Amino acid sequence: MIVAVATGLPARWWTLRPARSRKPATYRCPFCGGYLLAATEHALIAPEGDASRRRHAHLECVRRERAAGRLTTREEWLQADRKGSRVPLWRRLWNRRSRFRAPLDPPL
Ligand SMILES: [Zn+2]
Repeated sequence: MIVAVATGLPARWWTLRPARSRKPATYRCPFCGGYLLAATEHALIAPEGDASRRRHAHLECVRRERAAGRLTTREEWLQADRKGSRVPLWRRLWNRRSRFRAPLDPPL
């Protein structure tokens, strides 16, 4: 049974990370409504990085949502935003530069 995105959490982007815990807890997947065990490998998703609203979801459900383009990561969202080129060129260059700078470089 497939329910439409049942998270009820509007978000422009999501953080996704694999999770697995030894907690004997059972969670309900927001995408399919099915149960999942904390002890099995699954995904933790959080709307806009908000850990208090994070949900546990099946890996295959996350993959399906991603394939359908409904679960945008922060990186993808930023990329799409950049394509709209509202970010000035100097800012984009600055971001690229600082991202690739080695951590031990002396500060400028
Ligand atoms: Zn699921």
